[in-house]
Amino acid sequence: MNTVETALGPVATSELGATLMHEHIVTRSPGVQENSPHLWDRGAILAIAERKMTDLFARGIRAIVDLTTVDLGPDIGLIAEVARRSRVHVIVATGVWWMPQRYFSAHGVDAVADLFIRDISQGIGGSGVKAAIIKCATDTAGVTPVIENILRASALAQKATGVPISTHTWAAGRSGLAQQAIFGQEGVDLRRVIIGHSGDSDDLGYLRELMDRGSTIGMDRFGLEHFLPTAKRVEVIARLCAEGYAGKMVLSHDANCWSDMLTEDAKRRTRPRWHYNHISDDILPALRKAGVKEDQIDQMLVGNPRAIFEARNG
Ligand SMILES: [Zn+2]
Repeated sequence: MNTVETALGPVATSELGATLMHEHIVTRSPGVQENSPHLWDRGAILAIAERKMTDLFARGIRAIVDLTTVDLGPDIGLIAEVARRSRVHVIVATGVWWMPQRYFSAHGVDAVADLFIRDISQGIGGSGVKAAIIKCATDTAGVTPVIENILRASALAQKATGVPISTHTWAAGRSGLAQQAIFGQEGVDLRRVIIGHSGDSDDLGYLRELMDRGSTIGMDRFGLEHFLPTAKRVEVIARLCAEGYAGKMVLSHDANCWSDMLTEDAKRRTRPRWHYNHISDDILPALRKAGVKEDQIDQMLVGNPRAIFEARNG
């Protein structure tokens, strides 16, 4: 039986069902809440998360991938508690986002890869929760020395463990191509890579190139209109589905239950559609209207995530 590690232990990949491939439960500034605990109402955050996960389950979503890395202040105990209170599976990541602490430039590729491998093979901290995916990131600054260190460490950890890589990119800078180049140099099979935030781009040539090299692209920021308006995001997916690329795209919001950057009120005011239910409530109907077939939606939401977690290094 094929299984994937989740916050509550291994789950059959056949049980994953509709899966949102890039979300967060909580994102925060590392160190701030730990040292100013009056900013951290764990009970209230758990209650919000429980409600949002219940809403997701009611819409047929059965799993989310929480891509919260060490520089986004994860709390693995809280993630496991949310998973215990929820019927939605939570898959957890190791890795680093684009705000790496100085540890990641002061230590070489092998030391950083060892951290990732430990999270995947033994579990995160003392929690026993094993990461099932590696996150790394390139933003507007491009491949700086510390980012290169992390990208190469991610590649080594991918090859050592067989779990997939999922990235953050600055799509306007076409930074997925630089990521693929580094992974390729390190001998990673690019089919084991998801180039994230590709949905922020309507540069079809760029998106086709990423997929033609084997990777899946993350159409994963629905509701973040300032990167690309919803209508454009839908149009791009419909076009690529019509061209036969449904097997190379996954869907998500990059939303969260709670963040120390934006209150729930501020989210509603400034990004009203940026929440876990936007795809189920608004985007799937819009995709159908744009000509995307039911089996293509199924492939992007169910089939591709399952295949990504079932695949092994060849
Ligand atoms: Zn994210």
